Amino acid sequence: MSDSDKFNNPGGNDAFAVSADMLTAAEALTTLLRAVAPVKERETVGLTLALGRVLAEDIVSPRAVPPHDNAAVDGYAVYADDLDPASPVLLPVTGLIPAGRPLTRPALRGEALRIFTGAPVPPGPDTILPQEICEEAHGHVTVPPQKRGANLRRAGEDIQTGAVVLRRGTRLRPQELGLAASIGVGEVSVFRPVRVALFSTGDEVREPGCSAGAGAIYDSNRFILHGLLRGLGCAITDFGIVPDRLGAVTDTLARAGYGHDLVLTSGGVSAGDEDHVRTAAAALGALEFWRIAIRPGRPLAFGRVGDAMFLGLPGNPVACMITFLIFARPLLLALAGATVTPPQTYRVIAGFSAKKRQGRREYLRASLHRTADGSVIANRFPQEGSWILTSMTASCGLIDLPESLGGVAPGDWVEFLPFSEVLG
Ligand code: AMP
Ligand code: MG
Repeated sequence: MSDSDKFNNPGGNDAFAVSADMLTAAEALTTLLRAVAPVKERETVGLTLALGRVLAEDIVSPRAVPPHDNAAVDGYAVYADDLDPASPVLLPVTGLIPAGRPLTRPALRGEALRIFTGAPVPPGPDTILPQEICEEAHGHVTVPPQKRGANLRRAGEDIQTGAVVLRRGTRLRPQELGLAASIGVGEVSVFRPVRVALFSTGDEVREPGCSAGAGAIYDSNRFILHGLLRGLGCAITDFGIVPDRLGAVTDTLARAGYGHDLVLTSGGVSAGDEDHVRTAAAALGALEFWRIAIRPGRPLAFGRVGDAMFLGLPGNPVACMITFLIFARPLLLALAGATVTPPQTYRVIAGFSAKKRQGRREYLRASLHRTADGSVIANRFPQEGSWILTSMTASCGLIDLPESLGGVAPGDWVEFLPFSEVLG
């Protein structure tokens, strides 16, 4: 480790004091998560605005769902004791129960009540016969044998009064919003969105839509990161592109360090002379520069500027996006107050061979296809460069090869992380 890699920690925060020559991805992530102070401020929002937000408190159901015994089909509600287990019986149809309109008198033995899906079943009848298997004529219905309790949904079968239906730390997906609504909860207490300051660095980097000029490239990272941050519900302040001048980087970092929970940058953290991000961040707060045993990915800078955490991602767009998914995403979820769980991966069959350095975790861009027998085969994108952004648009996820592995042969089982698990 060079002198400039050594950790500078004026704040004395233990989480930043860890230093090792080469970290595994898991070690780096653990250190990152340990340094997180989750957002505490809460706000109350209506359900239609709560998508993607993180619950700040448990939700306890004030009622049962379903709230009453009800019919699961359109048909006839009867007492099973009035049925004949061996042959059809004829019963008078003496009442009608549409959805939302309970019967206003007690149900009687020996009668059939015409009932519709979702309509409340009065006390007594315990079996619903679907209309398709019954024959109604002249005020009577012929009903075949039926198992007691058929097609009857019991009150509280889904949710019981007093049950904790959603936990603090849950990110609200459409189904959680529906669940909250189902118990009559119209607004929820959520943590405020995480505030992220974002900028790109590099003298060669230009804003798309402007002319590039000789030697220049367009900024793709900021648009990748913008999309990723949006998917996580962050409030983004975009500081644009900052040139490779220590003064400019220091100035922008200093401004970004206030009013934000995280400052996220790309580029400028490798060891080249023009890479000022590390110098500026170290001068303004605390900085740790990590060499992580992953590919693609290195280098990564982590620290604190002003009030904010700081994460400096690599400049190469593929490495930038992958390190975001591995490190920044869980970090942001933790900051947001969400319960962080590893993303779901799936075992698929490698349709390729690959050499790999043992001790390093490698993420291969891959697409999937299904063979005639239904197996899922992963094919790796042919170009490996961490600047080949078409590899990301052509792929649907990453094959995650652990440190212990020395290579992959066709037919091997490998872990596949679909992008859909981590985008949003
Ligand atoms: P750096 O980490 O700044 O040394 O950059 C590594 C590589 O990524 C260089 O080829 C840069 O030109 C490229 N790069 C840096 N920032 C961006 C960006 N925002 N968009 C696209 N490429 C970038
Ligand atoms: Mg650069």
